[in-house]
Amino acid sequence: MVERRRIQVQGLVQGVGFRPFVYRLALEQELRGWVRNDGRGVCIEVEGRSADLDAFECRLPEEVPSPARIERSRTDGLVVAGGERQFAIVESARGGMPRISLAPDGYVCRECLAEMADPRDRRYRYPFINCTRCGPRFSIVEELPYDRPSTTMKRFALCTECEREYADPFDRRYHAQPVACPRCGPRCWLVEAGTLDPGPPPGEGTDPAAPIQQALGRLAAGQVVAIKGIGGFHLAVDARNETAVARLRKLKLRSRKPFAVMVRDPGIAGRIVRLNHAAEELLGSAAAPIVLAPRWPDHGLAEGVAPGMEDLGVMLPYSPLHHLLLGEDLDALVMTSGNRPCEPITADNRDALERLPADAHLLHDREIHVACDDSVVRAGSVPIFVRRARGYVPRSLEADHLPRRNVLGLGAELKVTVTTLSRGEMVVGRHLGDLDNTRAEAAFYAEVERMLRFGRVEPEAVAVDLHPDLATTRFAEKIFSGLPMIRVQHHHAHLAAVLTEHGVEPGSGAVGIVLDGMGLGVDGTIWGGEVLRGGYAGFERVGHLRPVPQPGGDRAAREPARMATSLLLEAGLGADRYAGYDPRFAEVASIRSASPLTSSAGRIFDAAAALLGVAPREQEYEGEAAASLEAVADSHHTDAYELPIAENELDTRALITALLEDRSDVAVRAARFHNGLADGFAALALEAGSDLVVLGGGCMVNRRLFRRLVERIENAGVRVIWPRQLPPGDGAISAGQAAVAACTLEEGT
Ligand code: ZN
Ligand code: ZN
Ligand code: FE
Repeated sequence: MVERRRIQVQGLVQGVGFRPFVYRLALEQELRGWVRNDGRGVCIEVEGRSADLDAFECRLPEEVPSPARIERSRTDGLVVAGGERQFAIVESARGGMPRISLAPDGYVCRECLAEMADPRDRRYRYPFINCTRCGPRFSIVEELPYDRPSTTMKRFALCTECEREYADPFDRRYHAQPVACPRCGPRCWLVEAGTLDPGPPPGEGTDPAAPIQQALGRLAAGQVVAIKGIGGFHLAVDARNETAVARLRKLKLRSRKPFAVMVRDPGIAGRIVRLNHAAEELLGSAAAPIVLAPRWPDHGLAEGVAPGMEDLGVMLPYSPLHHLLLGEDLDALVMTSGNRPCEPITADNRDALERLPADAHLLHDREIHVACDDSVVRAGSVPIFVRRARGYVPRSLEADHLPRRNVLGLGAELKVTVTTLSRGEMVVGRHLGDLDNTRAEAAFYAEVERMLRFGRVEPEAVAVDLHPDLATTRFAEKIFSGLPMIRVQHHHAHLAAVLTEHGVEPGSGAVGIVLDGMGLGVDGTIWGGEVLRGGYAGFERVGHLRPVPQPGGDRAAREPARMATSLLLEAGLGADRYAGYDPRFAEVASIRSASPLTSSAGRIFDAAAALLGVAPREQEYEGEAAASLEAVADSHHTDAYELPIAENELDTRALITALLEDRSDVAVRAARFHNGLADGFAALALEAGSDLVVLGGGCMVNRRLFRRLVERIENAGVRVIWPRQLPPGDGAISAGQAAVAACTLEEGT
């Protein structure tokens, strides 16, 4: 019996070789019909004998080649058409209601690497080799559906050989949109510093890897080279050359913030940092993030790469160009994102020449349409995202448990991301950084526009932070003035973000321990060391750190001595207990208007680090003092200072007094501080009585704090969940806001 069926497939099915796979399968099952990309994913119509159709439907989900992934599919019976002789891949259908099913930027696959190393292959040493299984995606796409004319590859006309591969369903490059070769594709070239015009790429027939060779010469000589990659530029130096690293620090105006290092292979990574199984897997995964792991004492890199830090960030080459770079003399390169301080990563050739402090620039002419930073994951008892970007976006999160509402979440002000929630799917955009400069704001505007357009999302409400003065809130008021604005308390958003990524249903609740630097509370004070009980639609604050003055407001977040002084005064201890005591800070602390009250956990870490003498005078980046404190803490020490609970407040005066009266060495005191803080919060959360505890907030990247919290809560027999797909920090705020907004809208109807 002959039948015709339509199968609609959604998931990660565009730009990942899915249609060629369907084509082969259809031929094997002797089916006729067609397959095409459409706005929702992939649509297949097949006609043939019932048994063959059944087999086809059965094999489809089972044999789907990585990285493609079917999330859902639906089959409808159709009237038999007849007359078709074959199976075909037809042009994409535009319009409809597209869902983002575009793949993240991928690594370079084994087959491509083998070809690149083969002198007889026409893509020998070609830095832009790719196929349907690998290569750039997200960063080159200008429009959906994903087809070559809607990518930045459209300006490269395929040569006859590439054309043949592109059109041959049995070729690995069949419909690989970025397909290219040295004849017809992008090329790279080296440009000297001081030149503002990138000039034309080299002509045909030149060695495609020669410019990389030149760049390597510069790197070997200790120079700084700006290198254009997949999502933007890196600034590179030889990671084993102390002078070169010091020079990069000077040029980048960055004296201490750790640099990430790209190493040739996992073996070298394993000699630099201690990798557990999960960390090894992450490092070698398709997303190829920067993995932060504890360094070995004899790691062999320049000390300046991450001065005084416990961890080093390593990643593996993830583009063919990177493989060529690291394939020769140098096996470890500092690869720090190429940007001006605080600004988004540079992705444009002219911009790079003008703005990046390098001795030479390795450019290429494949345009990056959407800049995207490297993702960062911290390895520990479990991996925790620090930054979610390249390799992960625009992968969506399941949100079937939330009300079917269309909302936009805009985040807070630091580590901003944009989230859309629509049709049961949540898309959390790339890490955009801090919105404290016009370039970052411009990137934010563009991101909002692009995410709404790609996702065909028409928001019925916009979710923002409670704080009226944030750039994101002001933007929403200006651009979406006609829409309802839902203001979500910062720590409530943290809680909701974790709930939604774990699929917790609206209506059920949890107790959240949310620890971070700051967010405006509903009482007008600064919150940051919070225990909240609630769900998406609402919450109550069941406990928090005892509020203390934050002398000088924002300045105290940069200068740890201010909080140390404030806590010293609160605890009624004398100035003689702290070498960094500054009477000016004490004076400011007494002026309420200059020193808002804060229950921030981040600021307690700052204070403790300063009191133990491990904090910098001025923090170069968020969390620097806390990272130093964590690094010195003895990880095997299990004692804890007491952090008493009085009327739902954790009394930090006792904690600080104990810290200063303890005569043990710094490692022990730092450990007891971590343990005490964790025990206090765990006790508070357990007292609130819930069968589910949620951990969130930027402090959860702290391994010691995190591990102890999990231990305490699990030991009490209570289930604890934490962020797995999103960062615990402010990168998840937009997701939490969107979830809260959807539930708030639903309740209101
Ligand atoms: Zn490949
Ligand atoms: Zn070609
Ligand atoms: Fe936060």
